[in-house]
Amino acid sequence: MHESCGVFGVYARGVDVARLSFFALFALQHRGQESAGIATTDGKKINLHTSMGLVAQAFTEDKLSQLGGHIAIGHNRYSTTGSSNLCNAQPVLIKNDSLAIALGHNGNLINAKLLRDELSNAGHKFASTTDSEVIAQLILSSPEKDLVSQIRWTMRRLQGAYSLVIMTNNELVGARDPMGVRPLCLGTIDGGWALASETCALDHIGAHFVREIEPGEIVVINDKGVRSFKEKTNRKALCIFEYIYFARPDSCIEGKLLYPVRQTMGEILAKEHPVAADYVMGIPDSATAAGIGYSHASGIDYCEGLLKNRYVGRTFIQPDQRLRDLGVQLKFNPLSEIISGKRLVVIDDSIVRGTTTPRVINLLRKAGAREVHMRICAPPIRHPCFFGVDMATKWELIAAQKTVPQIKNVIGADSLGYLSVEGLIKSVGLPRDIFCLACFTGDYPIPVQLEMDKLALEALPSRSLSEIET
Ligand code: SF4
Repeated sequence: MHESCGVFGVYARGVDVARLSFFALFALQHRGQESAGIATTDGKKINLHTSMGLVAQAFTEDKLSQLGGHIAIGHNRYSTTGSSNLCNAQPVLIKNDSLAIALGHNGNLINAKLLRDELSNAGHKFASTTDSEVIAQLILSSPEKDLVSQIRWTMRRLQGAYSLVIMTNNELVGARDPMGVRPLCLGTIDGGWALASETCALDHIGAHFVREIEPGEIVVINDKGVRSFKEKTNRKALCIFEYIYFARPDSCIEGKLLYPVRQTMGEILAKEHPVAADYVMGIPDSATAAGIGYSHASGIDYCEGLLKNRYVGRTFIQPDQRLRDLGVQLKFNPLSEIISGKRLVVIDDSIVRGTTTPRVINLLRKAGAREVHMRICAPPIRHPCFFGVDMATKWELIAAQKTVPQIKNVIGADSLGYLSVEGLIKSVGLPRDIFCLACFTGDYPIPVQLEMDKLALEALPSRSLSEIET
C-alpha cells in the first residue's frame, strides 16, 4: 500500500529556498519515491527541475545551485492517476499569456477524467497524464480575474482529495480540499513561511509549526504575510491511514503526535485480542510503536525478531528472477537465534491483498518460530480507496472476499486479530466524524458511491482471487 505524494512550499527572502526544499522533501521521502521535483522563482521567472527516483538521486549541488529565488515548491511522487514516468513528475509548470504557475498535488481526483475531457474538448493540450495537471489547467482556464478566485473556482469543480502547493512569480499558495483528506501544515522559517504535508518536514529544516491548513482553506503567502480564505465545509474526512501507516511517527496531525497514537493502537489491540506468547514484535518500521504498545499492555516482552533493509525497493536496479523469488527475504532478515522455538505475537499495520503476510510468517517459521499470532493495528480493509492510496481493487482485497478465520488460514497464522474501528478511533482520541474510514466501513465521504462501485467493477481483474493469493 502506498501513499500518493509529499508536498512542500517555502516563501523566504535571503534563504536558499531550493536547498530547504531538498531537505524537506528528504524528510517526506516516505510519501513517494518515484520522482522528485523543485520549482523556484526570483519574481521574474520560474525554474524547474524534476527527475525520476529518490530526492537524493534527483538533485545534485549543481542542479540546486541553478534553482535560485525566494519562493520554492517541491514534490515527491508516488503515482496514482498517471503512469510512472518523467512527464508525470511534479511540480507541474504551465502558463498562459497572463499567468505562470507551478503546482504540486497530494491526493487523487475522482472526476479527473471528466474534467480532462472537458478541457481537451475546449482545446487545452496536456503534457502529462496526471490529475494534477488537470487542476493546474483548470486554474489557468478559470474565467475569474484574481488568483484566489481562480483557485476557488477550480476547487468547486474538483471532487476528491487534494492538498496543493502552488507558486506564481510572486506568491506561494497552499490549499486543502473541503474534506481535508490529506494533511497540509503551515510553519515559519527565518522571517518567511513554509507549507508541508507533514510537521516532520518543518522540524528537519528548523521551521516552527504554526497550524494546519483547514479543510477547504486557501492560504496566500507574499511579502505582506499570510492571508487566509475559508469556506464552510460540510464534512471533514481526514484519512485515518495517516495515523496508522502513512505519516511518520514523529509527525503531528490534528495536534496528535503519531508515535503515542500507534502505541495506543497496540495497547487496545492487546486488550481486544490477547494471546499467550513469549515475545511481541512489530513488523518494522510502521508497526514498531504498536508492537511496543501491545507489549506494555500484555506484559509480554518485546523483541526485534525481523531486521529490515530500509533501502530495498528504493533503487533503480531491479532484482533478477532468483532474487525476486526470495520475495520478502530481500526486505527482512529474521533473527533466528532469538525467535527459534518461541511463540510470537507479530504486529503489522494492515493486510491488503494477503500476499505479503504469508511470506513474512513463512520466513519466521523457517527461522524456527513455534507459533505466529498475527495482530493487525487496523480493521479489515474491505473497500478500495478512491482518494489517492494505491491499495487494490475490491476484488483483490482479501478481507472483501474472505472471513477473518479464512484469512488466518490463507496467511498461515496460528491466530489472527484485527483492531476494531472503535478501538482505532479510541487510539487516535479524536471525534469519529472528522475521519474517512471508507476502506473499513464502505461509507465514502462524498456522494459518488455508485460511480465508484462501477469503477471498482470495471477494475475486476481477469485472474481469480486464489491466483492472486498464490
Ligand atoms: S478510503 Fe481509507 S485509505 Fe482512502 S482516504 Fe479513506 S481512510 Fe484513507
